[in-house]
Amino acid sequence: MEVKTLVLGPMGNCTYIVRQKSEAVVIDPSWDMNEIEKNLNGLKVAAVFFTHGHFDHVKDVEPFLRKLSVKAFIEENDVVLSGLPRDILQPFEGDSKIKAGGFDMEILHTPGHSEGSVCIKIGNNLFTGDTLFPGACGRVDLPHSNPRKMRHSLYRLSSLQEDTNVYSGHGYGDNGEADTTIGKEKESNIYMRNAVKDYKKGA
Ligand SMILES: [Zn+2]
Repeated sequence: MEVKTLVLGPMGNCTYIVRQKSEAVVIDPSWDMNEIEKNLNGLKVAAVFFTHGHFDHVKDVEPFLRKLSVKAFIEENDVVLSGLPRDILQPFEGDSKIKAGGFDMEILHTPGHSEGSVCIKIGNNLFTGDTLFPGACGRVDLPHSNPRKMRHSLYRLSSLQEDTNVYSGHGYGDNGEADTTIGKEKESNIYMRNAVKDYKKGA
C-alpha cells in the first residue's frame, strides 16, 4: 500500500491517494481535479471519502465524481454542511466498516471539529482530516464544532497503536508537514495529552 499526498488550493488542503495494486482510494479530493486525475494515472478508483463536509475539503469535486460514476462516502451529519447534492454521496452513520475493491476501511466517528468528522483507517494508515494535526487539533470555535466532543475524539485516537501513521487535512506541522504518528502525538501534542489526562481523571 502506498500513500500519495497532494497539497492543493489556497488553503493547503491535503488530498490523499491510497494505492494498492491497480486500485486507489481517494480521500478529500478538492480544488484541483486535473491534478488529482493526473496523479491517479489510470488507477481504478475503488472509493472516495470525505473526512468531513467543510467546503475546502469538497471544493469543485462534483464533476470529478460524476465523471467517475463514484459516490463519495461521508458521515450523515456532514451531508448538509458539504453543500453537495445527495445523489453523488453515500452517507453512512457513525463508526463503520466499509469494503470497496480490495480495500478494507475502518471508519472512526470523531466529532468535534464538525459533527460528522471521521478518521479513516486503511491498514496502518489513519486519515484524520481536521480532527488531528501534527502538534494540534482542528478548530472547535466554528458553528458546527464541539470542544467536549473533540476532547473525547482525541482521547479515542490516543488508544490506537503508537506506530499508526497519521495523515492530516493540512500541513500544520512545525515544518509544514501533514503527517505524524499516534505515538508522536501522544508524546508531544498538548491537545491529545490534555484529553488523555482529563479522561484518566474521570473528568
Ligand atoms: Zn474543516
